[in-house]
Formats: sequence, C-alpha cells, structure tokens
Amino acid sequence: MRRITFLKFKNGSPNNAILEMRPECNICQTFPKERKFSSGKEFDVYFHQVSDLKLAGKILSIKGPSWLNHDSSHIGAAAFFKCSGCGSVWDFAAPEKEFGGFWVRIV
Ligand SMILES: [Zn+2]
Repeated sequence: MRRITFLKFKNGSPNNAILEMRPECNICQTFPKERKFSSGKEFDVYFHQVSDLKLAGKILSIKGPSWLNHDSSHIGAAAFFKCSGCGSVWDFAAPEKEFGGFWVRIV
C-alpha cells in the first residue's frame, strides 16, 4: 500500500483510499471513473452510452448503497450501476436546474 493511500484512509477519505487499491477490471476500465456534465445535452449523450453498457450486460442496475447520504450528494434523481465483471459501483446523477449531473465510481 502506498503511504498516501493509507493517509487518505486515516484522514477520513476511505472511499478514495479503497478506490485506489481496487483497480478496474477489463470491462470497467473502458469507461470513466468520474465525469461531471456541464449541460443537459452532454448528460443525454452519456446517458445513451450508459444504456448501451446496460444492454450489453456490462453493468447492472442496483439499489444505492445504504451508507450513501443521498441528500448531500444529489440534487436530481440518481441511478446506481454495478460492473458485471468486478462489482465496482457507479453513482449516476441526473441534472436538475443548475446542477449538471455526474457519473462517479463510489465502490
Ligand atoms: Zn469492473
């Protein structure tokens, strides 16, 4: 383990530390770990890409993790997806007013 990884864990960013220690599998390394959208159109384009991944069976729809505080991280609606290869989980938030939405790996 890298020292910086342990320090992040110790200093209250366990998710980031865990993410660094869990590399992507050959399925999910093909999509971004984190993406923020600046427009509804940009979100729509990515929404279609996510739909294609789901149709191809590369990701599966799941319920959001119980430990996630939805109120603090989401303004709009959210969906959660799990990589069918390694079980990594993504949080996909839809845009709402000035909030552009995002796609981010959380597990
Ligand atoms: Zn994976």
